[in-house]
Amino acid sequence: MKFGGTSVGSAQRMKNVAKLICDNPKNLVVLSAMSGTTNSLVEISAYLNSHNTDGANETINQLERLYRKHVNELISKKEILDDLLRFIKDEFNYLRSFTKHPFSLREEKIILAQGEILSTNMMTAYLKEQGVNVVLLSALDFMRIDKNGEPDSIYIKEKIEEQLKAHTDADLYITQGFICRNTYGEIDNLQRGGSDYTASLLGAAVQASEIQIWTDIDGMHNNDPRIVEHTTAIRQLHFNEAAELAYFGAKVLHPTCIQPAKFANIPVRVLNTMQPEAPGTLISNESESGIIKAVAAKDNITAIKIKSSRMLLAHGFLRRVFEIFESYQTSIDMICTSEVGVSMSIDNTTHLQEIVEDLKKYGTVTVDHDMCIICVVGDMDWENIGFESRAMDAMKNIPVRMVSYGGSNYNISFLIREVDKKEALRSLSKNLFGEQ
Ligand code: ASP
Ligand code: MG
Repeated sequence: MKFGGTSVGSAQRMKNVAKLICDNPKNLVVLSAMSGTTNSLVEISAYLNSHNTDGANETINQLERLYRKHVNELISKKEILDDLLRFIKDEFNYLRSFTKHPFSLREEKIILAQGEILSTNMMTAYLKEQGVNVVLLSALDFMRIDKNGEPDSIYIKEKIEEQLKAHTDADLYITQGFICRNTYGEIDNLQRGGSDYTASLLGAAVQASEIQIWTDIDGMHNNDPRIVEHTTAIRQLHFNEAAELAYFGAKVLHPTCIQPAKFANIPVRVLNTMQPEAPGTLISNESESGIIKAVAAKDNITAIKIKSSRMLLAHGFLRRVFEIFESYQTSIDMICTSEVGVSMSIDNTTHLQEIVEDLKKYGTVTVDHDMCIICVVGDMDWENIGFESRAMDAMKNIPVRMVSYGGSNYNISFLIREVDKKEALRSLSKNLFGEQ
């Protein structure tokens, strides 16, 4: 079970989480830092990096006051409270010690690791106060990345098994998300938001029956509730469907974070801490055939079309076009081709001007702004019939700039004008999910 920053963001929320994690025996629980903490630690590092000791100390003091308040609200037994306050004091003195030495990336990584160390120690103390037989395992003892920054799954599996074996008598295990060691044994991390990754890696390593990601996001819905009435929560998704939706802001789960679970064939359940009794969304390798799961939209898209008769029967044309985008580190999201033209969509227009200038070498270029990608996700295997025509039919009164189908088995996308988004979403919802 992994709980994100907001889910452990206050003493009260920690207490709620404590109830949830005690429901199942032998749970392995991964916690993020309390919300805002990692950002404060980044800020402290930035001050240290620019030799602003006062700035660093001020932020450290502020954060310490906040943590003392949290701890006082969390713990009531004097002995446990005193211990935890002492721990907090040591932690913040440790942070202060960085103001006295040269600062580098290595020190920054150590500082960033303290957020998860704080939250897991607090939760463990609270659970102990509640009489739970809990063990705090340090992620630094088993989470490791190799020299390419990729998780070392073999090492992780071996070491977590060792740790669990050393504590077979415990009823519950708590550990830190996000933090790890690198090949040199130094403290490192799995990048911002990396706690999900920890959960997925550990779930795969211990062959968990299920990986639960608890967030404060109110479930994944089959449509945008602000635009379409009567949306329903999505109860089941294939890993690939979840990956298609990730681009559309369903950032509950980053596809790379989920890979270990997908490969180990362990289902991932996304749950809401504020509504713990709701069944959530189960993401697995099972697909429900013949079902459309969701419609999602993304604004601020720019379409670029390049037309050239030189493209006809030529080879290497697309490569040259793609190289231009690559040279400006701009990724292409949607693409459609004909024999004499290519249309592409981008969402990062930082280098639009330069890209257009360079493309003009190869053909006539047209740009459309304020566009929107609408994506229909579900069982869109090409051998199925019906869904593509129903989706197309829904767009019959809307000017469609591009259509992309067949790129994967799970998606059909339309590029339309942003102003037509509402109508398109409502119409798709009606055609694909029935009368609203
Ligand atoms: N605390 C880390 C961050 O804020 C990791 C996480 O929350 O997943 O990025
Ligand atoms: Mg997160």
